Amino acid sequence: MSEYERIFIDGSWTASKSDRTIEVVNPSTEELIARVAGGASADVDLAVEAARRAWGTWSDLPAEERVAYLRELLRRLGEREDEFVTTITTDIGVPLKMARRLQFGLPMSILEGFTDTSSLPTDYEIGNSLITHEPIGVVGAITPWNYPLHQTMAKLAPALAAGCTVVLKPSEVTPLSIHLLADAIEEIELPPGVFNLISGTGEEVGAALAGHPDVDMISFTGSTRAGSLVAQLAGRGIKRISLELGGKSPNVILPDVSDLERVVKSGVGNCYLNSGQTCLALTRMLVHKSQYSDAVEIAAHTANRFTLGDPFDPGTKLGPLTSAAHRERVRNYIEVGIADGARLAAGGVDAPAGLDRGFFVRPTVFAHVDPAMRIAQEEIFGPVLCIMSYDDEQQAIEIANGTQYGLTAGVWSADDEHALRVARRLRAGQVDVNGGAFNPRAPFGGYKGSGVGRELGPLGVEEFMEVKAIQR
Ligand code: NAD
Repeated sequence: MSEYERIFIDGSWTASKSDRTIEVVNPSTEELIARVAGGASADVDLAVEAARRAWGTWSDLPAEERVAYLRELLRRLGEREDEFVTTITTDIGVPLKMARRLQFGLPMSILEGFTDTSSLPTDYEIGNSLITHEPIGVVGAITPWNYPLHQTMAKLAPALAAGCTVVLKPSEVTPLSIHLLADAIEEIELPPGVFNLISGTGEEVGAALAGHPDVDMISFTGSTRAGSLVAQLAGRGIKRISLELGGKSPNVILPDVSDLERVVKSGVGNCYLNSGQTCLALTRMLVHKSQYSDAVEIAAHTANRFTLGDPFDPGTKLGPLTSAAHRERVRNYIEVGIADGARLAAGGVDAPAGLDRGFFVRPTVFAHVDPAMRIAQEEIFGPVLCIMSYDDEQQAIEIANGTQYGLTAGVWSADDEHALRVARRLRAGQVDVNGGAFNPRAPFGGYKGSGVGRELGPLGVEEFMEVKAIQR
């Protein structure tokens, strides 16, 4: 059995109760790189039992001692940075530089934010009541394939700091960095059962975790489709649920912007981040009719300059999509866009020239997109930008708010106050004004079909806690 085929329960690496395995493929070369355990509901039972046993002692530890383990984890992960970055680049196909900065660096910043007790809530009084916070218990965490270490850390670090124990089911598509994480957790000698890792499919292992009667909370990141199924399973047992789901985020460019080229280029770069496999990507660019044709030309020119190829090559700007199945899904959306009458300004369905291996999709720009089209409403999760035109600000806001999603948004204006007024009218959990940078300590989460609850920062810790009022 290879090391990736083991699962981590109660502080030890062990064999799964299932002898099935799942193949992990390098998306740039299409080569088999590992097999992970297929997982079984019996593994979930054992992991939840271990997490429950560990919970009493872990939650009773002073918070300062819990976060000391996180400090030690940060140090250990830092020592293994190159190994993580190489593994992530191989597993996901993201260019090396981005793997280092976003896929590894960002989760390290998140972890660092929980290495002291400053983000933990403190007791306070209202009238004759003392208000306290207590850890909710055993957390089942289910994560997707696009930023595996980031999405895991956004749950694991605050849950552990809060005093919860965790059973993690990472994505079966890109699990390798999470095995390295479990390895580092073993090295820092976190008490047995506080963290458990089981691999396997969502339908079997994910569903068993979501419906397990002894799990107190499910923290899920993934598609709106799977999130809805998980919420139904967890809802039967009245568990706490946190859902970080899909997006179709708008990027509203107001007509007073002075440097249209810079703004459009930045929007294209944002949309294609991680080959477009980013939940917060601004995939719908909204441009005033007076600037529309210029914006389409700039976007197409920018897209055509993205170099695709080997993610280990420093010249590569865009890697492949993560799996063959996902590439087919994205190509199918490009076909749908063409069939529905949108104009292809860059990219398309054909494989990129010179790349006969790997799940690559050409960076694609659609113009003349009607807001009702499927490509303007549904999450594509690939390097596909839709550019839409609007007549006035009110219409721009209606188009921006006119999908089932509400995860993030962008607004650009020469007047910051004006942009802020528009930002307040957008139904999204995060809005970036004039390219405002991602803040790993700000609450992150969606309105509407994009989710329930908030991750990161102090609010992200409170998600893992119960609130108790004691009257005196
Ligand atoms: P996915 O929903 O297919 O899978 C996510 C996780 O859920 C995986 O671990 C999978 O095995 C599991 N799963 C699937 N079906 C399940 C079921 N029936 N029961 C229990 N678990 C199940 O998502 P994905 O394709 O891995 O990731 C892409 C999606 O994730 C996109 O929609 C993206 O927008 C979303 N996402 C959201 C955020 C956010 O923070 N809002 C962040 C990243 C990704």
